[in-house]
Amino acid sequence: MTSAGKTPLLEHYLAGRWVTPADEGVPLRDASTGEEVARFSQTAPDLGAMTRHAREVGGPALRALTFHERAGLLKALGKHLGEHAAELHELSLRTGATRADGTGDIEGGIATLFAAGSVGTRELPDDTIVLDGPPVPLGKGGTFLGQHLFSARDGVMVQVNAFNFPVWGVLEKLGPGLLAGLPQIVKPAPQTAYVTERLVRLVADSGLLPAGALQLHVGSTDGLLGALTVGDHVAFTGSARTGALLRTHDAVVGGGVTLGVEADSLNCSILGPDVTPDDPEWDLFVKGVVTEMTYKAGQKCTAIRRAIVPARRADEVVEAISARLARTTVGHPAADGVRMGALVSLEQRDTVRAAVERLRASSRVAYGDPASVEVTGADAERGAFMSPVLLRAGEGASEPHDVEPFGPVSTVMTYSSVEEAVELAARGRGSLAGSVVTHDPVVARDLVRGLAPHHGRVLVLDRDDAGESTGHGVPLPTLVHGGPGRAGGGEEMGGVRGVLHLMQRSAVQGSPDMITAVTGRWTTGSRRRDDGTHPFRKSLAELRVGDTIASGSRRVSLEDIEHFAEFTGDTFYAHTDEEAARQNPLFGGIVAHGYLVVSLAAGLFVQPDPGPVLANFGVDSLRFLTPVKAGDDIAVTLTVKQITPRARADYGEVRWDAVVTNADGAPVATYDVLTLVAKTWPPAD
Ligand code: NAP
Repeated sequence: MTSAGKTPLLEHYLAGRWVTPADEGVPLRDASTGEEVARFSQTAPDLGAMTRHAREVGGPALRALTFHERAGLLKALGKHLGEHAAELHELSLRTGATRADGTGDIEGGIATLFAAGSVGTRELPDDTIVLDGPPVPLGKGGTFLGQHLFSARDGVMVQVNAFNFPVWGVLEKLGPGLLAGLPQIVKPAPQTAYVTERLVRLVADSGLLPAGALQLHVGSTDGLLGALTVGDHVAFTGSARTGALLRTHDAVVGGGVTLGVEADSLNCSILGPDVTPDDPEWDLFVKGVVTEMTYKAGQKCTAIRRAIVPARRADEVVEAISARLARTTVGHPAADGVRMGALVSLEQRDTVRAAVERLRASSRVAYGDPASVEVTGADAERGAFMSPVLLRAGEGASEPHDVEPFGPVSTVMTYSSVEEAVELAARGRGSLAGSVVTHDPVVARDLVRGLAPHHGRVLVLDRDDAGESTGHGVPLPTLVHGGPGRAGGGEEMGGVRGVLHLMQRSAVQGSPDMITAVTGRWTTGSRRRDDGTHPFRKSLAELRVGDTIASGSRRVSLEDIEHFAEFTGDTFYAHTDEEAARQNPLFGGIVAHGYLVVSLAAGLFVQPDPGPVLANFGVDSLRFLTPVKAGDDIAVTLTVKQITPRARADYGEVRWDAVVTNADGAPVATYDVLTLVAKTWPPAD
């Protein structure tokens, strides 16, 4: 922020410089006191220069890094922001958010960066492409294959964000976006843009991200989508109304710009028919509704707008929720004892009051007065304070399924059967999150199966998971966030899904050698290399994809099978009882244990002396394909499939393709052997 005369004006961050908008801007006010905090420009920055910088500087720099390197940046950034969280909290209070609200936004946002960092190192390779599944055979001769892979788009990602999470809203998109190799332009909602501006200043000051990886646009959205082109992505969070507008923009309709929409939704929580006021689930339900109504003063996209309860319990539920709401102190978010702060602005309060009026067409207010509230630590006239309002829907009410009061408002409605509860939930026409509070597994199954097609996430809450449950309204970086229909049809986060979602999936076709060359992973049918040195004698520095050893053969005897059965205790009849084994439709006589075959194969390929292979840490995809009988000869071919050095260790992972064959050359077992191999051998001092 710089001071333009008396008013601090938010600045764009463009091509590594802070740029002061040309106009005076409009005031942004403290939600609780009405004092001016900053000014927000009504002009747009030089969008051509901004997108060009992202495309020409940020994108190439990001895409030159591997996923592991990008993940390292995210973790370092998370640590840096954690050290400066106090600055963000100070500003967050001015948005009307309590300290607890701010923690969800700030520490919650930083946690998503760390989570994205972990996705980068644990679920993505130390490479710039991601293989999607195994090769697909396309010809009988094995010379023509297909391989799906994800690669980075050479575009820009524009975040258009809502006002309610000025930190989390940026960071939950930044982590997956940067991992995917997309430079980011952040466009915050005006109301809380001063928090986002500080966040971007912290990121810029850290010097951690490559130049051009993050820019800030604090101004009018005029021309924003028009500056985008094929390969670019807009990640929008906001109202369904604005989302619908963006969908029809030329850039999206015909310009090749992709659009993710995270919009509003009329989320529900359903109290199971099995729950009585004496059950722990009763309190969990009541507490859940109240928490969702009052956290962030109900300005949360996942908040419970519809509480769906059994008709015979409705009076008791309304009474219990009202009693709990009565304990919610409303006031200045920094004042002692305050549980619920202010709405973001007086305009927002007007919007919520108008929504309550619309709801009142078919529902009655059961708790709270939309027009007045007792306020602690602030002037009720100057701040955007509002009482929590609980409504009770009348018979056949339609408004609660249509109107989103984006504030501390929820409506109780009733059902008579599980089917009716599902029908009511579905009337929201697509939601981000739903919850089912029940201790009855049959009710849980029926409700979740009914709700799932209409929801992005469904929580089943009961006494068993309550202690660890993160609650109805909390989107988690490891789970998908988004929902169908009204909720926008978008999908974010969900671990690696949120990254791949932003990349291009291609099906590559070619010969095994070409697929190996393109992917860096050895593909069945492609050339092997046997230079006479056992690959177990090669360090990571010497080992190459395709290095192979074809073992000699070994006869499997009946004594081997009997010995293995006795030694391990695996005396399953197919290995020990000829008469019974003959009746087995698959074997027709005694067969060797599959694990014996794999163990004998290890004996055939292992080079026993101390050397660069440090450990075997498992096998993947083990399949026994042809039974091995006493007298059969087996041999194994082991080939280096993939080499993955570990950044912070003096060893790496080597995945070996193992094929055990019989004397006819038929595969009897196939699997991947996983080993750790020293980077150099003998090890450097
Ligand atoms: P909003 O009015 O739709 O604004 C959201 C963002 O869109 C703002 O940055 C706004 O900036 C921008 N915008 C508006 N018109 C635009 C246009 N024509 N072209 C490009 N950008 C445009 O929503 P809000 O009031 O900030 O946020 C509240 C809503 O967001 C609620 O309905 C809530 O449910 C929803 N929300 C959803 C999620 C989710 O994850 N699904 C999360 C949080 C909030 P300007 O105002 O500067 O134009």
